[in-house]
Amino acid sequence: MKYRNLGKSGLKVSELSFGSWITFGNQIDQGTSKELMKTAYDAGINFFDNAEIYAEGRSEEVMGKILKEFGWSRDSYILSSKAFFGIRGLESSKPTQTGNNRKHLTEACHQALKRLQVEYLDLFLCHRPDKSTPMEETVRTMNTLIEQGKIFYWGTSEWSAQEIMEAHMVARENHLIGPTLEQPQYNMLHREKVENEFLQIFKTVGLGTTIWSPLASGILTGKYNDGMPDDTRLNLEELNWLKDRNVVEEKIGKVRQLTQLAKDLDTSMPLLALAWCLKNENVSTVILGASKVSQLEENLKAASVTDKLTEEVMEKIESILDNKPRLPSF
Ligand code: NDP
Repeated sequence: MKYRNLGKSGLKVSELSFGSWITFGNQIDQGTSKELMKTAYDAGINFFDNAEIYAEGRSEEVMGKILKEFGWSRDSYILSSKAFFGIRGLESSKPTQTGNNRKHLTEACHQALKRLQVEYLDLFLCHRPDKSTPMEETVRTMNTLIEQGKIFYWGTSEWSAQEIMEAHMVARENHLIGPTLEQPQYNMLHREKVENEFLQIFKTVGLGTTIWSPLASGILTGKYNDGMPDDTRLNLEELNWLKDRNVVEEKIGKVRQLTQLAKDLDTSMPLLALAWCLKNENVSTVILGASKVSQLEENLKAASVTDKLTEEVMEKIESILDNKPRLPSF
């Protein structure tokens, strides 16, 4: 396992990390969750990602119980939580139970510590931007949580470059600590923010990124190429919206071509897709998700495939993703 600095901070995060969205406390049982955590930790993964809203808090409870059972030294891993949506989501929560205001962020932090059974979070993120809370209130709250030793670094998720810069400006003006990282979606089918919008702030503020859904929820494994397999994420009824958005001919058509390319390179589609994410130096860590130990074991080999991503291969991938006709070679 290789380790990268989280942006300009000194924190060393494993280039592959592990998250529990959809799976823990929901799709998979406690035993499988435990095996997944052990497989990840034993392979050198040092960052585990979570959020208040994952399985209405149960994901944090499951992870907390596992961390306690294993008893790994607290200084050997990085733990995150994210707040904004509340445990039950924006629609079902009371007005004080959501958002990036002082009350919710502080209470959400305390509740996450309790569910995860730890004394501090290494990373605490605003899960989405909140236009109804003044930026200074959010930045001050995060700064206070840092000063109280309840969190070490704070970050954002799915914020725009402008919002992240505003947070940094407010922090600078008030001698507070700005966000160290952003958690954006990034994969072969979703690239805009990481490759364009954030380019400037990678340079100016040295933003770290913990990227999510590197396999586009499984589409980029190629397993949806020939129809809908049983027992997979996009078969879950609660995720019909995700299926409708992703299992569309335009995307699947590209993945079919990429799957052939992976075969030609003597690797698998998931490894090609993950290695492609790792290749981007502005990515601090690729958060893996898995419902089975065998998936995680396969995905952990991603770094060994980066060598196959020569300039020529990257161009081939580009031509598939851009859907541009390939120029004839002379
Ligand atoms: P992926 O896009 O990698 O999807 C993971 C899922 O794909 C698995 O659960 C599994 O689903 C399937 N899969 C993974 N590997 C394989 C394989 N080798 N072969 C076949 N199927 C495979 O990542 P996630 O969407 O899970 O995101 C990773 C993490 O990012 C989350 O756990 C969470 O921590 C974070 N996240 C953050 C968000 C945010 O808003 N900040 C939003 C979403 C995620 P199955 O077997 O069920 O088909």
